[in-house]
Formats: sequence, structure tokens, C-alpha cells
Amino acid sequence: MLTNDDISAAFKLTASLMDLHGENPFKAKSFSSAVYQIEKIETNLAEKPKNELISLGISDGMASKIIEFAQKGTFADLQQLLDKTPKGVLEMMSVKGLGGKKVKALWDELKIESIYELLEACNAGKVAQIKGFGEKTQEAIIKEISFRTANVDKMHYADTEEIAFLLESVLKNIQVVESVSLSGQFRRRMEIIDELQLVIATKNFDAIFQFLNGYEKLIPNPKMSNPFAWRGFWKNEDNMPSLKIEVKLTQPQSFVNQVFANSAAESHLTRNHSGKNLLQILKTQKFQSEQEIYHSANLPYLVPEIRENLFEFDLTEEPKLIEMSDLRGSLHNHSTYSDGKNTLLQMANACIEMKLEYFGICDHSQTAFYANGLTEERVLKQHAEIEQLNKQLAPFKILKGIESDILNDGRLDYPDEILKTFDFVVASVHSNLRMDLEKATTRLLKAIENPYTTILGHPTGRLLLRREGYPLDFPKIIDACVANNVVIEINANPWRLDLDWRWIHYAISKGAMLSINPDAHEIAGLKDMYYGVLTARKGGAVKANILNTMSLQEIEIFLIKFDKL
Ligand SMILES: [Zn+2]
Ligand SMILES: [Zn+2]
Repeated sequence: MLTNDDISAAFKLTASLMDLHGENPFKAKSFSSAVYQIEKIETNLAEKPKNELISLGISDGMASKIIEFAQKGTFADLQQLLDKTPKGVLEMMSVKGLGGKKVKALWDELKIESIYELLEACNAGKVAQIKGFGEKTQEAIIKEISFRTANVDKMHYADTEEIAFLLESVLKNIQVVESVSLSGQFRRRMEIIDELQLVIATKNFDAIFQFLNGYEKLIPNPKMSNPFAWRGFWKNEDNMPSLKIEVKLTQPQSFVNQVFANSAAESHLTRNHSGKNLLQILKTQKFQSEQEIYHSANLPYLVPEIRENLFEFDLTEEPKLIEMSDLRGSLHNHSTYSDGKNTLLQMANACIEMKLEYFGICDHSQTAFYANGLTEERVLKQHAEIEQLNKQLAPFKILKGIESDILNDGRLDYPDEILKTFDFVVASVHSNLRMDLEKATTRLLKAIENPYTTILGHPTGRLLLRREGYPLDFPKIIDACVANNVVIEINANPWRLDLDWRWIHYAISKGAMLSINPDAHEIAGLKDMYYGVLTARKGGAVKANILNTMSLQEIEIFLIKFDKL
């Protein structure tokens, strides 16, 4: 269904496109002011008749457009503008800081019609010379486009799962295939996948090549293939090549060796163990299982996700890594009180269905006005509702939390009298994300030292493939969390996975407590805890390292014990 955000976005785009095509500025302005109106309205506009829209302060003309949009999925003004805008020019408007007027200048003066041409022109120093641009803007554009194009065929782990399991099952069903295994980055649960790799055991390579070349969802890349490796791409919805695919073929007796060699990081394979590395051991015989490979190197069995040459060779026995079934509750979630899609009760019921014992609500705080953050008054209203629901849902419990914004100077954005009414506080940065290492670290340290902070939320603010996180002095931040009894979040949203797994082992070794938090904005988001579990496993976390493996009773004691006031 059409949301108010969809309407705002479409109106903003219409205004920008009018600027781009040099149309009447008053007409463009009427769309911008409608956006301003819409953002103040909380009820869904798409369901309302015209007279009600007008009574909410929307003009007659704009009300008709909302109705047209709700019925047809578009409206004439926008559609006409889109039809006469080249795709590349439209894409340029998605670059941060480039609105309709700036893109018009680039298009008119430099005849730039795509992101690639824009990058070239920036690199040649031409953009800085256009009125209203300058060196700084030019540099910011280069940085953003380079970051985007470097990630062009990469995918979030969560988005590759469906492709991976489909391909695996399709290949398993081919008669001449004896075994199939996913390998490479996917098997190691890397947060970003740039190539999906599989290994097949078969005696009939030709038949497999024929199948892969003809399979409707694949696009072959014969130039990059060889008799032992089929390479190509997955076909996306537009029938264009997207994710890179590699299928290695091997004789059945070499299958285990081949899968193993293709699943671990290079440095894991080449690390020396009393005179021999795992690659050399692979050459001595054909193994029946990966356990045997490790045992012949006098090592405990190491699961694929930790084969990174990070900490795994210090282990003296196979670790019992955290599992989804160890989780007993979910902390850090949103509801319709701020920018979530489901009510408190709906979210709580979904947790009950998942057999969890508690649900931590952490709606946005008052500074996050763009996310409908809670004023002090609304905090108290929510608390009253929680108390009511807790009577109804017992023994299940909703814990009163908040995702409090960390302000520029590291303060939290409520006074102490309000902060002390919560069961726990997740402190997160949502604004001014471009601080340098020193400033960003100092800002977080201040928040960590705040006695009301229970959990440090998404520590770097990164959005994988979209936005780099701010730089941090990780050892300093982690040490401060330990010293102040602050739990570190593993934000389980597949776009974040923040704290990064590369720092999890360090955190654990210093005695830090971690929490796997889905940051769910709707019921479906609660399932993201699974990706947090994968991240925690990759960092070597066991059940005892994770806060939300505690039972309700244990976590209530924990929250009282660490209530330092
Ligand atoms: Zn957040
Ligand atoms: Zn959040």
C-alpha cells in the first residue's frame, strides 16, 4: 500500500524534475510545500477521500494528484517528466547533494548524461568550474560515485541466500551430479558476496557445462571459464547480469579436498602448523571429511565461517558457537510510536510466536524528529501502555527501552529524570556521520561513559554497500565499553552487521558483553536476528558472550545490577 513516505518521495522527485527541465518554479514549489504539509500528517493519506485531504490542509490540486497516485501507482505530471528524462540523468539525481538545478547545470553545460560521464568530468576537474559547484562538491561527488561503482555487482549476504539455495538444489537434481556444496565467501558467511561459488562432484563435466549454459537464470561468461570451472552471472529481474557465479567441477574422490580448498581464506590455508600448512596437507591424500583434514594437522575441527586466520588457530578445541536457538529475547526494536510499521502489541505477539520471553522496545528519541522520535510526554504514554500490555501478556514481558540519539558532543538527548524511567537505553549515532576518527571516538566515549547507557547501538553507523561507517578507534571504544559495563550491539540488520565481525573476537577477549539486536521496524525484521547470529559466530562468540541469550529473569537481574545509580 502507498505510504505517506511514498507520496512525499514522489512529490519531491516531481519538484526536482521540474527544476531539472526548467519548468515554472511556482509549480515546482507547490509540490515542495505539499511535501512539507504531508510530513506533518500522521494518518495514511492514500486511503482518504478528497474532502478529507483538503481538510488536512492539502490543496485541491495536490489532493487530486494523491488520489490519482493511489489509484494508478503514478500521476500524470510525474510520468511526463520521467518520460522525458534520460535514465542516466535520473540516476545522477540520486547522488547526494545533486538536486534538479545542479543536475540541469551539468546536463546543459557539460552535456553529462550518466554517472560515469559525471565521474570522468569530476576527475578532469571540469565540474568544480561550474557555477555553484566548487572543489569540495566535486570531491564529494567523486567519493560517492567511486564507492558506488566499486560495489556494482556485490550483494548483501542476505540477498544472495535465495540464489544460493536455489542453485544448490537445482544442481543436486541433475542426474550426473554426485554431490554439491556451496563454498567460498558464501560458506564463510561474509557480509558482502562478490562471487557466489559452488563445487560439484561429477564424472561428466560436459553434461554440467551444457546444463549451466542453458539454464534460464544464468548468463555464461565463456572467456572467464575453463574446463574445470564454469563462470558467469545470475540474471536479475531485468534479464541483466548481476551476481558473479562460479561452479567448480571435480572428480567425486577429490570433492572434500576441493570444497575445503575453496571455502577458507587464503591465509587460513597457508598458515604454518609445525612445518606444514593445510594446503600441503591437502596434497598428501584425498580426504573423506573436513574433520579428518584438521585432525591430520593436529587441529580441532573449525567450522567454515571462522576460517579467516584471525583467532581460530588459538583454539584448543572446537568452539560451541552461538546458535539461533540460544536466543531468548529481542532487544532494540521499533513500533508505530516512532518509525516502525507494527504496533507494540503486534511486535510483542510476533516475539511470543517466536518462543521468545521478552521484547525490548527502543523507539527513536526526541531529536530524531524525522523518525517521529518520542517527546518526554509520549515516552510516559508508551510506558503506561507497556504496563497495561505486560499484565495482559505475562509471563512474557515488554522491556522499556529507548534508542537515544547521541548528540554531536556525546550527550544523550533526554534529561536524567526521563533516562532513569527506562529499563535500558540503547545509545546510537544518527546524525553528523562524517566526523573524523578523533571526534567520532571522543563523541562515542562520552556516550559510553554516561551512566544511563546500557547498549552502544550500531557502533559505526555503516550501511553496507551504501555508506561507509565513520572511522573509530575500536580498541579504545571496546575497552571503554568493558570498563563502563556497556553492552556492544551486533546490529543484525543485513545492511549493517555492525559491530563488524573482525572486532568481535577482540571484544570477547576483553570481556565485553554483546547483544544481537534486529533493530526491527516491522514484524518481518525480527527474523534478522539470524544474520546477527551468523556475524557473532564468525567472530567466535558463544552463548555466554551474548546478552539476549539470558532468560527474562536473568536479564532483569542484569539490568538492575548494571543500573549504576
Ligand atoms: Zn539506529
Ligand atoms: Zn533502531
